Amino acid sequence: MMEYHEIPPFIYSHQTNIDIGAHVFPVRKYVDIYKKLIEETGLAPSDFIEPQPVTPEMVMAVHLKSYWDDFSQCKWSPYTEKSEFPLFPKVVDFFLASSGGTLCASRMACQQGIAINIGGGFHHAFPDHAEGFCFLNDVAIALQQLRKEQLIRTVFIIDCDVHQGNGTAFIFKDDPDVFTFSIHQQNTFPIKQKSTVDIGLADGAGDLLYLSTLEKYIPSLLMSFLPDLIIYIAGADPFEKDQLGGLKLTMEGLVNRDSFILENSRNMKIPLAIVLGGGYAIDTRDTVQIHFNTCKKAIELYSHQDLS
Ligand SMILES: [Zn+2]
Repeated sequence: MMEYHEIPPFIYSHQTNIDIGAHVFPVRKYVDIYKKLIEETGLAPSDFIEPQPVTPEMVMAVHLKSYWDDFSQCKWSPYTEKSEFPLFPKVVDFFLASSGGTLCASRMACQQGIAINIGGGFHHAFPDHAEGFCFLNDVAIALQQLRKEQLIRTVFIIDCDVHQGNGTAFIFKDDPDVFTFSIHQQNTFPIKQKSTVDIGLADGAGDLLYLSTLEKYIPSLLMSFLPDLIIYIAGADPFEKDQLGGLKLTMEGLVNRDSFILENSRNMKIPLAIVLGGGYAIDTRDTVQIHFNTCKKAIELYSHQDLS
């Protein structure tokens, strides 16, 4: 039985606070979101759950042992070197903690209706290789573990990062119990795989087209699939000032996107786990603000809920 608590559970791992030097991936966004939530929402540090990192066994339910061996030993090989993220021991811990956060959020969402991982969404990682900034596919690792525990059977992934969730699509391509929905910019990274439903939008799509597309697809797909769990990858990179995205959504458009996904999940009483995905705004404060807005929307829509 789901229980709705006063504030949705937030999962944050201090192990994600690492320094990778000057890089387009703003790793500091995680600690910045964490601090902003404490400063602006009244959450205390003790309100955040520190997740357990995932184990090698959990990783290898998704990734090949040979790839895990290279990655965990920080060895550059034809499989790890497709990553555009650096590789050193703290990066290994970062990905294990991020995946642990997504596992924890998914588990807590099943118990409490909603949970947010201040991290995760590394959807370009494949079983045998890294891609983009993704070494481990946290969403796939979490889902395989929860399905192994028989906590869930069916999952609907709503991937709203500006880049297609190619790794996740590939991993679950023959799995009828995992619905992969990806809405992304068509003419950009990565090389596309086939999701259950792909919406590839043209450059500069903007708020109205983006939201009307979600309205067209999401409620009816959710209604017909009725999953045990939704995972929402709330990428901040559809933003108009993003360096790696070109869909030109405004800050307000992204808030409306979040509202739409969260309201649908809530109204259908389907457990919802939120993970962050990418975000590369010229000013990192914009990326932090977009992710913060997603968290705030979850607090607003899921606090004091009596959905029984
Ligand atoms: Zn992205």
